[in-house]
Amino acid sequence: MNITVAGTGYVGLVTGVCFAEVGHQVTCVDQSQEKIVLLNLGISPIYEPELDGLIKKNSNAGKLAFTTDYEQAYAQSDVIFIGVGTPENEDGSANLNYVFQVAKQIAESITRDCLIVIKSTVPIGTNDRVETYIKNHLKHKVAVEVASNPEFLAQGSAIKDTLHASRIVIGVESERAKDILTSIYEPFKQPILTMNRRSAEMVKYASNDFLALKISFVNDIANLCEAVGANIEDVTSGMSYDGRIGKKFLNPGIGYGGSCFPKDTKALHWLAEEEGYVLRTVKAAIEVNEKQKFKLISKARNEFSSFHGLKVAVLGLTFKPGTDDLREAPSIPNVRLLLNEGARVHVYDPVGAENFEKLFPTEVVYEKIPDKALEGADICFIFTEWEEIKAIDLTLFKEKMKEPFVFDGRNCFPLEEARTAGVNYFSIGRPDVK
Ligand code: NAD
Repeated sequence: MNITVAGTGYVGLVTGVCFAEVGHQVTCVDQSQEKIVLLNLGISPIYEPELDGLIKKNSNAGKLAFTTDYEQAYAQSDVIFIGVGTPENEDGSANLNYVFQVAKQIAESITRDCLIVIKSTVPIGTNDRVETYIKNHLKHKVAVEVASNPEFLAQGSAIKDTLHASRIVIGVESERAKDILTSIYEPFKQPILTMNRRSAEMVKYASNDFLALKISFVNDIANLCEAVGANIEDVTSGMSYDGRIGKKFLNPGIGYGGSCFPKDTKALHWLAEEEGYVLRTVKAAIEVNEKQKFKLISKARNEFSSFHGLKVAVLGLTFKPGTDDLREAPSIPNVRLLLNEGARVHVYDPVGAENFEKLFPTEVVYEKIPDKALEGADICFIFTEWEEIKAIDLTLFKEKMKEPFVFDGRNCFPLEEARTAGVNYFSIGRPDVK
């Protein structure tokens, strides 16, 4: 079976590489010449642990190929997975331009019966629309069917999440599509859940929106903890022993970012409104998150009357550790605000600085080590809990900064250590240390 994956982003590339790793013959297509050139050199265009090695290994074994020539790749495919982006439109709805562009290319290129599998996160009903579109635009007389197979990987652990997924969700309307997808996923030895296409599309949104809700709920409670003198760490620890709540995703912070939760909450909320229904819980998650992004700034405003002329050290830029992705990262609006208010911003991130430089080429100073960013700084903001940042000895803030004022959006350090180190330390949902 010839498998082609359209899109070599976080989802498409990882999917293609993992399919090859379990023995399939895979071609990955992207419209970006730049990405394909790098991939053909065995270099991953994105940062993801273990990815580079698996690209080289499977390319060398002849199981994995990369091309921009979609026409040739689709013509020879039995199964095509679509993993292109579905970003947010201005009104919050999902932008399906890339998905329909691929659908058009597929319709014009395929020369044999083909199963098209949509991995991109798409609004409920999109699989139906894409199937109709392709059938109406076919150049050759072949049989096509569309199936839904939403992706649940998390950036930073994408390879592990794919090779050892919690579940594979398959949305199909025929036994044939079910058999093909079951055989593709058979080597992964993971639970396969089969349902209709609309339910599969909904599983993805419901899962992401539930996780976003969990984060916003904890952040809401963390904010209240500050007001009433409770400590969110003790509170979540006490909650987590209840098996119905669980231990995961209970960390307070400055809100969720990334390419999924922000857009997937808005897209489902938008879609519900189109259906005449208001998803009140999801709406609340979105609102809490919007406000939470600027939580550290409002704490800093209590200590500093203005940021004008101050040196501000920013540690951590990516929306979470383990990735170079800056999409919807809270660091971006915060740094923009600090610059607008006249701060001199020095940033450090072990992986994300290169992408940040594309957004802020000259406005901020890029430092290779945290020490340099902290040297003579008036304020330090922590936006990402990288291991490199959590490993900093708190005495460094005292040693390097003018007077150590640390605003930590990811609760990287124990309060006791901040107290011992003599650092003014402000975190989320925990008492201030002054
Ligand atoms: P991405 O932006 O990293 O990658 C998309 C890729 O598609 C880009 O390389 C782009 O050049 C390519 N592309 C666009 N049009 C193309 C075309 N016509 N032919 C071939 N390639 C084309 O996106 P991503 O983060 O991988 O997300 C892809 C989808 O998966 C989205 O719907 C997203 O919501 C969903 N998803 C993402 C994650 C995640 O953690 N990133 C997790 C689960 C699901």
